[in-house]
Amino acid sequence: MREIENLKEAILKEYPRLDIDSEFEFKCHPGVACFNDCCGDVNIFLTPYDIIRLKNRLGITSEDFLKKHTLTPFDKNLPYPIVLLQMQENEKKSCPFVGETGCQVYEDRPWACRMYPLGLASPAEDNKQVDKEFYFLLKESVCKGFDSDRKITVSGWLKDQGIEDYNEMGEYFKDITLSKFFQDEKNLTPKKLEMFFTVCYNIDMFHKFLFESSFFDKFEIDDATKAKIKDDDVELLKFGYQWLRFALFGENTITVKGDVLQAKKTELDQQKKQS
Ligand code: SF4
Ligand code: SF4
Repeated sequence: MREIENLKEAILKEYPRLDIDSEFEFKCHPGVACFNDCCGDVNIFLTPYDIIRLKNRLGITSEDFLKKHTLTPFDKNLPYPIVLLQMQENEKKSCPFVGETGCQVYEDRPWACRMYPLGLASPAEDNKQVDKEFYFLLKESVCKGFDSDRKITVSGWLKDQGIEDYNEMGEYFKDITLSKFFQDEKNLTPKKLEMFFTVCYNIDMFHKFLFESSFFDKFEIDDATKAKIKDDDVELLKFGYQWLRFALFGENTITVKGDVLQAKKTELDQQKKQS
């Protein structure tokens, strides 16, 4: 994690800042001498949406995906859990999804793989040093893509890489990770951390939590929403973010049923009388 912190510092201080219309020269294709060389020994942070795309691509549950393909490093300085793609234990520490012909999950590859060679810094990540979101180029020494004279704009690259859906889902995630709660350096209880992890990374477990419990007896969730989240992981994740804002930060994003609220109030009144 220290390496990542140092890189972050260098980016903020030294890297040229690109905006959406900036041009750069880059081309990656199967004929390049370094083909596949970047798909190993690399830290790839997985977003909740990345995990949904990958586990559905592989036809496995989120639980199995987490067990087989990820690491969840513990760092006491992190306010919430993060998930990394686990590289294989071979000499090159290859990504589990790289093959002779390139990425075997290309259509569902993670956000970070789509973005390279671009990086993105946003203000709330370090509001002292970044006043406006900016892009920058990450030039890995192994990468020959920069030897090309093909010019492309940042916006052209993002479009080419199909980043739009990833960014849309990323905005919902940011509502959680960049919330005032975390900016005020407050800590989640272990139970709330577990809820964060379940919603964000173990979506099939979250599905069970909703549909195999008394959840819908307690909260006002209309039938259309129930139907939408039952069979669609992306809609379920969007709902999960609403739930987290309610359950973790006390925001008014979910409504408790009137009778449940009344029963709780009665219980609290009785406890008060007895004390
Ligand atoms: S997911 Fe695909 S593009 Fe990303 S590192 Fe693995 S093989 Fe490479
Ligand atoms: S190292 Fe650069 S040019 Fe080579 S395959 Fe990876 S992204 Fe493409």
